Amino acid sequence: MAESVVHIGLLLPEVLGTYGDTGNAQVLCRRLRWRGLDAEVVPVGLGEPVPSTLDLYLLGGGEDGAQALAAAHLRKHWRSRSRGAVVFGVCAGLQVLGTRFRGLDGVEHDGLGLLDVTTEAGERRAVAELVATSSELLGRAPLTGFENHLGVSKLGADSEPLGSVVRGTGNGDGTEGAVTDRVIGTYLHGPALARNPELADLLLSWVAGHPLPPLDLPEVDRLRTERLTATRRRR
Ligand code: GLN
Repeated sequence: MAESVVHIGLLLPEVLGTYGDTGNAQVLCRRLRWRGLDAEVVPVGLGEPVPSTLDLYLLGGGEDGAQALAAAHLRKHWRSRSRGAVVFGVCAGLQVLGTRFRGLDGVEHDGLGLLDVTTEAGERRAVAELVATSSELLGRAPLTGFENHLGVSKLGADSEPLGSVVRGTGNGDGTEGAVTDRVIGTYLHGPALARNPELADLLLSWVAGHPLPPLDLPEVDRLRTERLTATRRRR
């Protein structure tokens, strides 16, 4: 964090805001402010170039059409995207961060190529609670969220899964999400960073360049335990 204010880029919220993932920006902002750090959410709309100066970039979920629009826009207007930025994408966001994706209409679209992931339409829509065990990146902590997608994603050699599925569908082959360098994609809505504070703090530690002091938020911990317990019961 070269500057004292952390700038959180919220990419195309009017297009990739369908599933409430814009809340991830609020969560990151809050977790920084609770630690006495200044943060600002910078929405970047359709038709605007994506500034290269932001500390972190967020992409949310959206319908197939919205997703194709977002990919075309970002390929053209996010020139600095490959310069080691911290990026977090959810569902359509994950698919757009990949190399290519194809929806129900069979048309293939180029993604941004920040994750080594390709996506095809699956046979049925996954709409359910999604629980995964994270990779070592998050010390095998449980991840929880809600999924709502048709896409089935395949990882290539340059991406690692974010976790392995305990309940639900995730990528469709038992893995969940993808990670390459400081770019993370996931199928977890919720918003994901509200339901998984460790994931929020991992992104923030990458921005800061060091781990951040832990936050003592008993109500957040309690809610997380409640949700994980409820999901276990519903199995
Ligand atoms: N349109 C994509 C799919 O159905 C992404 C959906 C979403 O972002 N929730 O796979």
